[in-house]
Amino acid sequence: MKITHIETIPVRLPKKPQLAIRSSLGYTLASTFVLVKVHTDEGLIGLGEVSCDPVWSGEDDVTSAHYINDRLAPSLIGEDPTAIERLTAKLRTCMAGHPFTKAAIEMALWDIFGKSVGLPVYRLLGGAVREVVRTKFSVSGAEPEKAAEIAAWAVSVGFKAMKVKVGIDPESDVARVRAVREAIGPDVRLGVDANGGWSPRVAIQTIRRLAEFNIFFAEQPVPRDDVAWLADVRRNVQVPIMADESVFNLQDAMSVVRHDAADVLSVYVGKGGGIGPARKIAAVAEAAGLTCTIGSNLEMGIATAAMIHLALSTPGVGAEEFPCDIIGPFYYEEDLLAEPLPLQGGEARPPEKPGLGVELDEEKVKRYRVD
Ligand SMILES: [Mg+2]
Repeated sequence: MKITHIETIPVRLPKKPQLAIRSSLGYTLASTFVLVKVHTDEGLIGLGEVSCDPVWSGEDDVTSAHYINDRLAPSLIGEDPTAIERLTAKLRTCMAGHPFTKAAIEMALWDIFGKSVGLPVYRLLGGAVREVVRTKFSVSGAEPEKAAEIAAWAVSVGFKAMKVKVGIDPESDVARVRAVREAIGPDVRLGVDANGGWSPRVAIQTIRRLAEFNIFFAEQPVPRDDVAWLADVRRNVQVPIMADESVFNLQDAMSVVRHDAADVLSVYVGKGGGIGPARKIAAVAEAAGLTCTIGSNLEMGIATAAMIHLALSTPGVGAEEFPCDIIGPFYYEEDLLAEPLPLQGGEARPPEKPGLGVELDEEKVKRYRVD
């Protein structure tokens, strides 16, 4: 089997305004994606998705489509799509950066491989190590009353864990977490995600204040620029520290380990350039006695499926202790899949069809296409 061409389709999906997340990085009412179709000479098509976020990774629909069409596709055409490890290395070395763009192609290769042998991706990765993936909701950094309302809704649809966006300013951060804790009661597990919005000094002060609300982790309290800042915070608080923006690739993970800078790594399919690279990061965490969760920038259905296959089959992902952010589809008015993923409040299960197990609804793709 050979790759014949790669198609890119930019789409823009409106979010549900009542759930759209405000964080220290800003606020948007829609997300841009590039859907990727890797075509083969045997008629199998692999699906992938770039979730574009210039603030996160410096990628958008224009850069992503350009690099796939003009740089990555030419290096893959004629190759065997099931040579995933070798082609992932090729994607990595053929240009710097752009991990979410590369990840879209990598997940499409897994999709083709699964379809070619009639097995879901999680089985190709060694099989399930858990029956179900525990998930948590992500509550917008809104006014306290509004955040409490979103949190109560999340509990009502079954979530038993959630995180609240903080890092906006310490006083309103504390007020928001207090309001959410009051709304959800003592039994729902609650964490915070600052998206790097605090300085090390403010992070230490504010996390100490938030301990009163029994938070079970503080995610990316300080900017990603220097891992020593994260280590400084971790030394000075009791709450477990999660590294998200500080860990894109394998070397970032090793650096966090060397600096004792986190207790938990937030692993993405997108940040490291695919499912395979994400599993290597999880293995680094495992070797260091840390654990991982799966993080999200609100992917749509294709990448969400990739995240489920990853979480289901990777022992280094401690989804029971730190439930995963496999929640993207909750935030959109409509997903573009022909059949919705088996996602419920608080848990994700894998699609059992071959490959990633998802198909696009081509009518919807037409409707949300933006070029
Ligand atoms: Mg995060």
